[in-house]
Amino acid sequence: MRSESFGGIRPRMVDLFAHRAMEVFWRERERERKMGETTEKVKGEALQIIGGFEVLPKLVVFDLDYTLWPFYCECRSKREIPSLYPHAKGILLALKEKGVDLAIASRSPTSDIATSFLNKLGLTPMFVTQEIYSSWTHKTDHFQRIHSRTTVPFNSMLFFDDENRNIQAVSKMGVTSIFVGNGVNLGSLSEGLAQFSRNWNASQKNKQKWLSKYSNKSESNTSNHAA
Ligand SMILES: [Mg+2]
Repeated sequence: MRSESFGGIRPRMVDLFAHRAMEVFWRERERERKMGETTEKVKGEALQIIGGFEVLPKLVVFDLDYTLWPFYCECRSKREIPSLYPHAKGILLALKEKGVDLAIASRSPTSDIATSFLNKLGLTPMFVTQEIYSSWTHKTDHFQRIHSRTTVPFNSMLFFDDENRNIQAVSKMGVTSIFVGNGVNLGSLSEGLAQFSRNWNASQKNKQKWLSKYSNKSESNTSNHAA
């Protein structure tokens, strides 16, 4: 009698669990398919945006929390499956395809969680360097390290971050720095590349001005010597 009732309930429970598991599986498959479609669409649009600029940065540096993904790492568990802002992956792929190097500058105190999430998302091989550690400076030491590891000059870098204090400190180093209010997206990519072009053209003009001033001076010095 006992085994009969047990035997009657158990198959129904097993069916229920199996049904739930299948539901979760298909829902997850559908979510991944839709995300893949979005990523491809965003990548195509990002390639078009990038193609519209004559001058590109050599290296684009991204913050993590609330720039590439919508959360603070320290509030999450390593066991979770993270997700990015909807435009983030397409933008990373497009920059990479155009030969622009990518790096991370994050002040997250939980670098183990951040690194594990980057691995789970399959992003780790995309970055030439990942500087993830807490610091009292507003990422100026992160950028010194990025520069010494990559040898890319600061004025050839573009940086995206959601904290104004980091934007201000890093832009003083000569890096074009763009504040993102709601995660990196096609709008901020476009704004960043436009600002980078303006900064680059201004620095080239200054360089030309300085060179012609210097060469005029040295010519007049030479003529003086000749006289
Ligand atoms: Mg952040």
